[in-house]
Amino acid sequence: MQKTLRLILGDQLNSNHSWFNTIDDKVTYVLMEIRSETDYATHHIQKVVGFFAAMQAFCLELKSKGHQVIFFKLNDLDNMQSFEKNCQNLISTHNFTNFEYQLPDEYRVDVVLKKLCQSIEISYSVVDSEHFFTTRNELGDFFEGKKTFLMESFYRMLRKKHNVLMEGDIPTTGQWNYDGENRKKLPKNHNATVPLVFNNDVIEIFNQIQKTDIKTIGTIDAKNFIWPINRTQSLQLLDFFLAECLHLFGSYQDAMSPNEWSLYHARISFSMNVKMISPQEVIDSAIREWEKRPNEIEYNQLEGFVRQIIGWREYMRGIYWLKMPEYSNMNFFNNQEKLPDWFWTGKTKMNCLNDALSQSLHYAYAHHIQRLMIIGNFALLAGIHPDELDAWYLGIYIDAIEWVEITNTRGMSQFADGGIVGTKPYVSSATYIDKMSHYCGSCFYKKELKTGEKACPFNSLYWNFYDRNEGKLSNNPRIGMMYNVWRKMKPEAKIALLEQADYYLKNINEL
Ligand SMILES: Cc1cc2nc3c(=O)[nH]c(=O)nc-3n(C[C@H](O)[C@H](O)[C@H](O)COP(=O)(O)OP(=O)(O)OC[C@H]3O[C@@H](n4cnc5c(N)ncnc54)[C@H](O)[C@@H]3O)c2cc1C
Ligand code: SF4
Repeated sequence: MQKTLRLILGDQLNSNHSWFNTIDDKVTYVLMEIRSETDYATHHIQKVVGFFAAMQAFCLELKSKGHQVIFFKLNDLDNMQSFEKNCQNLISTHNFTNFEYQLPDEYRVDVVLKKLCQSIEISYSVVDSEHFFTTRNELGDFFEGKKTFLMESFYRMLRKKHNVLMEGDIPTTGQWNYDGENRKKLPKNHNATVPLVFNNDVIEIFNQIQKTDIKTIGTIDAKNFIWPINRTQSLQLLDFFLAECLHLFGSYQDAMSPNEWSLYHARISFSMNVKMISPQEVIDSAIREWEKRPNEIEYNQLEGFVRQIIGWREYMRGIYWLKMPEYSNMNFFNNQEKLPDWFWTGKTKMNCLNDALSQSLHYAYAHHIQRLMIIGNFALLAGIHPDELDAWYLGIYIDAIEWVEITNTRGMSQFADGGIVGTKPYVSSATYIDKMSHYCGSCFYKKELKTGEKACPFNSLYWNFYDRNEGKLSNNPRIGMMYNVWRKMKPEAKIALLEQADYYLKNINEL
């Protein structure tokens, strides 16, 4: 008799996948909590718990619909702790005749599963995960023969192809991009919407992890786990975002404020990345909400949101599959420094970094501009090795899966790819941080000072970055102006800035 084993990865919890359209007693699904996945990076405890909780909920959902499911819990005695060993063992003990899996999103897992297929003596096949708008190679095909990979052109092509906010070939309002309207600072004393959080009891999963020697970072309230762990909660979070946040999403997308950890962001990246909800349904519901409340939700808010999902998210995935595995070794600036110790504690006198790091450790979340313009900005200015930073980003955030983590970190944030993802490095001095946040007023350091004991480290490190990378950057047309300013500076001012930066870099753990 034909018997099929279908592997479901921890980030493939898509209940609308065509696999599940029919109940078939010849098909058995398998999910596994395994050490190869908990140990490939030092993850935030909330990330490990979140994945396991969502997998367990998905298993129950499948079983309740009548599917046959095998679930390996972390400490099960027969759990051999890797995809290969568990699958090989199941295939031989249950006499499966076919093995099937969905295309993984990670290069690492892709390699493992291809190898597994070579090692088994039964037929195997791989199907699409039916989640993304694009195929793995679509970006590569679209940019074939081109030297640059402009996100905007990929985004426009996808808007046309999938008829999103379009009137024929023309964007709904005649304008593609509303970025210019989406860069507002939060007004002083503005109370942002209180974020919706869940209070899932995940204590049993937490206890099982504690019984092992799995290394994790960050904290958790395991009786009140805040992240969605099933499709119903993911849809609740999406509905909350649409009702309470979408109308200000674009305006305050780049804003930052102490004690406001989520502002008007959706916090749906975990739900989407593990596929409890799809990008198509997220975009469709956002458009429906805007059509229902046209007087409350301006078009720029909607377009800003749609751009993140059909634009940036699909684009990053396309770059990943086009450029891996070389991408994971790129280090354009040849940065070699180690991460400061306070990346694991948040304990630095720099208010902006203290807040962004502390909230990352507390919630396993920071919003985009904190990741890019506070944490990533500092790391690039300080010359941190991209491997160190990638490992940190891959561990700390609940939504961190390599395809979207590495392209954002090594690419967008660190420019380690030499300009595949971004056209110029995202670096700034205190001026930008002060313009977009309320951090500087209560900081130990003074935003306006460039040298001296209280000088904001971002200021001297900023010029030090341009100075040390002049050979690699001065021809970039988008930054030529900065070099004009640098060259016109008095020699003694330059020396003072470089000495200050040098002092800070040598004493980075004390900042
Ligand atoms: C250094 C760095 C590391 C990052 N690491 C990750 C990561 O590991 N996993 C991850 O999902 N995102 C990552 N991002 C992208 C982005 O910061 C997160 O997707 C976002 O903060 C998730 O929170 P949200 O759902 O509240 O997003 P919102 O701000 O509400 O945006 C809505 C959705 O748009 C998508 N999106 C927005 N920006 C991006 C982007 N640059 N790339 C891809 N998708 C995007 C996400 O799916 C997000 O859920 C990273 C960004 C930077 C700068
Ligand atoms: S003064 Fe500098 S270190 Fe302090 S919050 Fe502002 S930018 Fe950050």
